[in-house]
Amino acid sequence: MLHQLKEQVLEANLDLVRQGLVVFTFGNASGIDRDEGLVAIKPSGVPYEKLQPEDMVVTDLDGKIVEGSLKPSSDLATHLLLYKEFLSIGGVTHTHSEFATAWAQARMPIPPLGTTHADYFYGEIPVTDDLTDEEINGDYVLNTGVAIARRFRQLDPLAVPGVLVAGHAPFTWGKNVLDAAHNAALLETVARMAFYTVSINADYRTISQALQDRHYFRKHGAKATYGQ
Ligand SMILES: [Zn+2]
Repeated sequence: MLHQLKEQVLEANLDLVRQGLVVFTFGNASGIDRDEGLVAIKPSGVPYEKLQPEDMVVTDLDGKIVEGSLKPSSDLATHLLLYKEFLSIGGVTHTHSEFATAWAQARMPIPPLGTTHADYFYGEIPVTDDLTDEEINGDYVLNTGVAIARRFRQLDPLAVPGVLVAGHAPFTWGKNVLDAAHNAALLETVARMAFYTVSINADYRTISQALQDRHYFRKHGAKATYGQ
């Protein structure tokens, strides 16, 4: 069942490793089949070099395991909450990639400082509020997703395909799981460039709205002109 989705989810998880975004097993990617309402996610704590497509765990949107003999990634509840809240997305990743995590720990949104950022993220990359003690002591993993959804109430998740969870690390998403993994790499690149930029000049400024619009909309939306 869902063999192609499992292959893509495995490929996306391996992409995160190849891009240097995952240290040990601190990372996971999942993809959803919207017609079936089923999610395939990396199993928890299995070394990447041993992973096979059939090791991917398939669950429904309530987290009930439908297929697979291994335990799903411990971040499953965050992924499921994001699929329920963001109906336009088809894949989710979570990593502790170094530069994006540094911004998350600093609780600083990443400002749009250049066109690299604007090509993929429309406006700043936001940071969530801190989770309350009740949220941490309760269903922590689910509440991480709740904090993300709360931060995105006024935002389009496909226009800003990533977030920094305060004091934790980034999540990204996309039209499908491979797109989500691509966005994880782009987020890390943008985070690294932004770090260097503010280090060179603490008195930085963001690019203009006109330049942000020019770059974002040439790749996205009805008037996109980029590519073939
Ligand atoms: Zn984490």
